[in-house]
This record gives sequence, structure tokens and C-alpha cells, in this order.
Amino acid sequence: MNELEYKIYIDDVIRRVETARLQVSAHHIVKIVAISKYSTADEIEKLYKIGQRAFGENKVQDLKAKATELEELPLEWHFVGNLQKNKINNLLNINPSLFHALDSVELAQELQKKLLAKDMSLDCLLQINSAKEDSKHGVMPELACSIYKQIQKECPNINLKGVMSIGAHSDDKSVVKKSFEITHNIYKQLGGATICSMGMSGDFELAIECGSNMIRLGSVMFNK
Ligand SMILES: *Cc1c(COP(=O)(O)O)cnc(C)c1O
Repeated sequence: MNELEYKIYIDDVIRRVETARLQVSAHHIVKIVAISKYSTADEIEKLYKIGQRAFGENKVQDLKAKATELEELPLEWHFVGNLQKNKINNLLNINPSLFHALDSVELAQELQKKLLAKDMSLDCLLQINSAKEDSKHGVMPELACSIYKQIQKECPNINLKGVMSIGAHSDDKSVVKKSFEITHNIYKQLGGATICSMGMSGDFELAIECGSNMIRLGSVMFNK
């Protein structure tokens, strides 16, 4: 695809996001984070050139490599993957704009210690395992509000901005919808939360209809 063809292709993705968000309300804004984990720095640059600014990775080493290679561009980097404790310092050295996958009090406490030592703060989302799947990270939905408040209280260098979830792994649309509704309900109960990150290439329209205001699009943004 040349640049013009890619632009036309992305216009169509944007149109799909627009249609879904307008079904919620004309005031409902949805931010797209382009997940570049299957894409090269060259492909990221092509998408940047047609207007995309926010990108995300799910491995600390890949985030570091791509952010370094593209450091001359004014990109906004998100980290959406599971964070191992021994990778915390590496992540903080990149200073991402948002960490989507804070998934336990224990990780929050480790992160807090490292943030304090570096005199930094980090914007984070609490990941919720809304469909209670063994294969997924995240806190159980019934514990989410109390864990969120505990982290707010005990970890002053972590700025919790809201929640993140991956839709249920199911071909049944009603099951996926239910998982998004559970996450959005938790989001609404959290005073001051502003980000509800849910929806990926296969389910972003449904996620938006359920109230998502940040979608993480990998394959569909890079036409893979
Ligand atoms: C890979 C990934 C995405 C994007 O997945 P696609 O299906 O390619 O859109 C979104 N969120 C997380 C956490 C991911 O790891």
C-alpha cells in the first residue's frame, strides 16, 4: 500500500470509530492507541505521517527499541503489557505516558518504591480480569474498587487514571459485551477516573458502545 492507499484505508477505520462513538453521544470522545507490537519502526513512522500520535507496545524491550529508534518524532508511548518486577526500572527509564496493565497491589507497591527512588510519578490504569479468565491478568471485578482505592492511598507516586480490560475471549457477542459492561460499571464507580481502556481490533465497536474511551488497535491500524 502506498501512502495514499494507506490513508484511505485508515479513514475507513476512523469512520468505524466515529460511527460507534456517535451511537453513545456526540460528546463521547474516543482515543486510539495504535499497538505496534507486530510492526516495524518504519510502519510506525508511516502511520505517524498520516496523523497518529499515540502508540503502544506490550514488551518493555520492544518499547525501548522502538521509542529509541523513533525518538526524533513527537510520539506518545503507552505500555499495555504485563510488567515483570525485574523490568520496572527499564520501563521507568522510558517514562511512558501511560501504563495500562497495573494488575496487583503487590506490583503497585514495587512500582511505588522504584518511582519514589527516582522521584518520578507514573500514570496507570488498573487492569481488570472482567471475564475471570485464567489466561488473563488483572484483578477480579468484585475486588477492583477496593484495590483501586488501596493503591491510591498507599502509592502516592502512582496516578491512577482509570481501568483497562481485554474483552472476553468468546465468539458469543453477548459474552464479550457483558465483560465490557462489567469493566465500565467499575469505571463509573471510581470517583475521578477518566480513562476506560477497552476494545481491540476485533471488538472495538462493541467496546465503544459499552462506554470505552480508549481503544488499543493493533492489526487493524497496521492492516495486518
Ligand atoms: C496486542 C494487544 C492489543 C492489540 O491487539 P489487536 O487485536 O491486534 O488490535 C491490545 N491490547 C493489548 C494489551 C495487546 O497486547
